[in-house]
Amino acid sequence: AAVFGVQAQQAFPSKDKTVTIVVPFAAGGPTDRVARDLAEAMRKPLGGVSVVIDNAAGAGSSIGTAKVARANPDGYTLLLNHIAMATMPALYRKLPFNVSTDFEYLGIVNDVPMTLIGRPSLPANNYQELSTWIGQNKGKINLGHAGLGAASHLCGLLYQNALKVEMTTVAYKGTAPAITDLIGGQIDLLCDQTTNTTSQIEAKKVKAYAVTTDKRLSTPSLKDLPTLAESGLKDFQVTIWHGLYAPKGTPAEVVAKLNGALKAALKDPDFIKKQEGLGAVVAADQRVEPAEHKKFVQAEINKWGPIIKAAGTYAD
Ligand code: ASP
Repeated sequence: AAVFGVQAQQAFPSKDKTVTIVVPFAAGGPTDRVARDLAEAMRKPLGGVSVVIDNAAGAGSSIGTAKVARANPDGYTLLLNHIAMATMPALYRKLPFNVSTDFEYLGIVNDVPMTLIGRPSLPANNYQELSTWIGQNKGKINLGHAGLGAASHLCGLLYQNALKVEMTTVAYKGTAPAITDLIGGQIDLLCDQTTNTTSQIEAKKVKAYAVTTDKRLSTPSLKDLPTLAESGLKDFQVTIWHGLYAPKGTPAEVVAKLNGALKAALKDPDFIKKQEGLGAVVAADQRVEPAEHKKFVQAEINKWGPIIKAAGTYAD
């Protein structure tokens, strides 16, 4: 009992333990990229403890998210997920977790624009030409995404709905394998975060057509891309945010430590530079506080639910 008492009081995080960040998408993709950079930036503020990534991918992030909801609430298993936290409740009839009640909210990490990209062999060289090509190839277009509720799924859903063109959707465990198939020509189009697409666009491995934000981006390799809104899809706007979570019931002092380490990481110049290079904007507002993070996610659930339902016929 005495030994147990000592262990129970041991300060978090213990040097001989590992903090695992569950990424609910495939390795090498945009969520994975953010998580790996964040793990590195949080290591120091967490006293040098090792922080590792566990890719529990599949079903639009619902598998990895469920894994964390069920994990021991001791601060050693965390979840990094994006806007899927707000879209899954509208897209799944039944989820094995409740976004509002099964998690401790640790803070928003960043906001990331998306890009509409195409296979390198697509004849269209700009958005105007893509529009024409889509019109000529109705019924034959394959659009990749990372599963129901993923950011790429949401963007594709809104895109098909805005065009009133139904595409054949192909689900992957993340956009890393989707982009591999896009480069190989197995699928035609993909909408994905700049954290994944910027290097492929720079290397001219894919064709880039537009950004999903309301304004053009300043990242040098993306600055000439038009917005979808200015290209005729009025009001089209999707920005992806990532947040960090722990299982519900994680002790308050552990939550406070993790939130403190996250806030320190978000001020780390190396982390900021890496993220900016990928078109992401590191969070520097109230949403880095757990209560504001939770409020924001709730507002996003309320915002996207009706939009997803309205676009429902394209929801797979
Ligand atoms: N974030 C990507 C998406 O939503 C998935 C991934 O990270 O692989 O499509």
